[in-house]
Amino acid sequence: MTFTPRPLDPDATIGILGGGQLGRMLALAAARLGFKCHVLCPEPLSCAFDVVRRVTEADYTDKAALDRFADDIDLITYEFENVPAETAAFLAARKPVLPDPKVLATTQDRLAEKTYLTQLGIPTARFAAVDTPKALTRALKEVGRPAVLKTRRFGYDGKGQAAIRAGDDPDAAWREIGAQPAILESFVGFEREISVVVARGLDGQIACFDVAENEHRDHILKVSRVPAAIAPALAEEARRIACRIADAFAYTGVLAVEMFVVAEGRRQAVLVNEIAPRVHNSGHWTLDGCSVSQFEQHIRAVAGWPLALPVRHGRAEMINLIGAEVEEWPKWLAVPGASLHLYGKSSVRPGRKMGHVTRVFAE
Ligand code: AMP
Repeated sequence: MTFTPRPLDPDATIGILGGGQLGRMLALAAARLGFKCHVLCPEPLSCAFDVVRRVTEADYTDKAALDRFADDIDLITYEFENVPAETAAFLAARKPVLPDPKVLATTQDRLAEKTYLTQLGIPTARFAAVDTPKALTRALKEVGRPAVLKTRRFGYDGKGQAAIRAGDDPDAAWREIGAQPAILESFVGFEREISVVVARGLDGQIACFDVAENEHRDHILKVSRVPAAIAPALAEEARRIACRIADAFAYTGVLAVEMFVVAEGRRQAVLVNEIAPRVHNSGHWTLDGCSVSQFEQHIRAVAGWPLALPVRHGRAEMINLIGAEVEEWPKWLAVPGASLHLYGKSSVRPGRKMGHVTRVFAE
């Protein structure tokens, strides 16, 4: 069965797959608009469970649980891109699932994603497919060194990646990523990393947030600053690329596009690194720094409501509280203009995103 999604009434129930902080913040935004939420997630004590009407703690492959979940909700969305394809198909036969799960097939696979971008004429780093050590040798000739070998699937925050520099043994990199289907990318000597969060409504309306500049620490996003310190024409180009991707997917919801800014002679250009078919950490500043948050835009989009036109309140900064940094939370309460967001996670682990702070300054 396929569904023609139609606008939800404000008391409808939205199902969310995934119970992390993104699901939590989506549910909070949905509640503000009058919706109820039901979160399905396999992990006990998921932080989104604390803020919703109903929860299902079940595996994504538990068909009986998925059936009960689908019965209870009017529409399903998700907070992470690794929703198993089978789960998405099972649910899509029962209730509308937005964004359309076909997007997941492209974005779950780095090779499919980069190939898709190339077909759209959107620039990326040079890349080649790698399925065997022999293919890696060939790919290195094509792409050159230094290069980055990445698993095609399930990579995040720099996991499943190995650098191959001059003199490095490619076999070691192949083993390091677990000898699995991969993509080799040329190493980009970028000036900065930026991202664009864009929303596309059910009717094709597009609303793009301002470009964020992102600073990573140990491969994990640490700070986003908005607007990015780049020329207006380059910011426009970055936003144009994000809108083009959302349109090409006929997307409904919020998606984020991560990009590198590179120097091309005296010009600057952008290369797309990754698409996240969901709300994104680099868009958290919108909670306090903009007239509408990325979470509300996503809910509006999947609910078939008109999107808001985002108006930024000033220069914004988002600082992630990672691992034990969360223990500094009282300090942030005393900082003028700072807004503290704690995710309510029960245990602190190194590298775990525990909360964030947004700061907004007059421009
Ligand atoms: P990813 O998992 O693809 O988002 O990569 C995580 C981080 O690794 C990026 O934010 C970059 O800082 C870095 N990175 C990924 N791909 C490349 C590349 N081709 N060249 C240089 N740095 C990269």
